[in-house]
Amino acid sequence: MIKQDTEQLSLEKGRRPGQPGHEIALKFLERRMGEIGLAPYEGDSYALPYGEFTNLAGVIEGTDSSALPVLIGAHYDSAIDGPSSDDNAVSVALILHTAELLIKKSPSRSTVIAFFDAEEKPNFLTKNMGSLRFYKDHCEDMEFACVIILDMIGHNFEVGVPPVDLLVPGIKDFMFVLGSESHTQLPDIVERASKDTKRLRIIPTLNRYIGDRSDHHAFRKAGQPYLFLSRGWGKYSHTPKDNIQWINFSGVHRIENFLLRLLEQLDTAPMETRLEPADPFRYEIRMMRKAIGWPLPFILACLGFFRMALHSREDINSLMRKVLKLAKF
Ligand SMILES: [Zn+2]
Repeated sequence: MIKQDTEQLSLEKGRRPGQPGHEIALKFLERRMGEIGLAPYEGDSYALPYGEFTNLAGVIEGTDSSALPVLIGAHYDSAIDGPSSDDNAVSVALILHTAELLIKKSPSRSTVIAFFDAEEKPNFLTKNMGSLRFYKDHCEDMEFACVIILDMIGHNFEVGVPPVDLLVPGIKDFMFVLGSESHTQLPDIVERASKDTKRLRIIPTLNRYIGDRSDHHAFRKAGQPYLFLSRGWGKYSHTPKDNIQWINFSGVHRIENFLLRLLEQLDTAPMETRLEPADPFRYEIRMMRKAIGWPLPFILACLGFFRMALHSREDINSLMRKVLKLAKF
């Protein structure tokens, strides 16, 4: 189903606002949200138009109305007039499928399923950006247990340096999780959800290392707990080669499993109580060690950008500086 929905959204001429593909994607999403059985987030339609743009939102009602809701969101517009399967058709398809599974589990927290418009340039971080508008118009006085945003999760991870990408085993399975620092419960939740994830190497990273690259911006700024899942910028991002052939669907299914475990953890975690923020560097180091695994540290050390000794925030800072420089972020 994830593959089919990704295909349906990977329109040859893309989904840019104002283009015919945008309207096709909108109609398709409304139909799929209905089939899945989501309740409209507001009024009697999933569509929440603003000016020339339209966000979409539905809800899976939780069994405990006093529990804070979770939001899962991704943008559905495209940056170019091309399929844009990785950015961001596949995230939307994954969320649709997750919603379908979730509805059968009847979780205690309500789940808001949101598809945002106008994430891409020239609307990025402007007043037209769908997620900013959604937050401002529809949930400014709400509190979320957690907001989970997905963007560019379909391609294999790559550093962009051919010898590293070819020689280092398992590098393609890396995925970044940003935002664990936004709530004291999140490091534990991410760590537990990533136990026994085969062939998905999860690297938690502070948002400030990378900066706001997607729709989590609106929620982070508002002080809501959030997680941002992404494989980062890839070699075909924002080009016509970002098409269905570029997507690793077994990798996508592994991310879906991880997301389902995150939701399971979130459903019972005491997200309502917030403790003093703490620097989660020990968790980052543990997760990084696990994700990198032998013999990667050795190879990376030989290539000269990995310090085997990783003990403090300072060590992570210097590693991240090197990695980000290499990955041309
Ligand atoms: Zn994107």
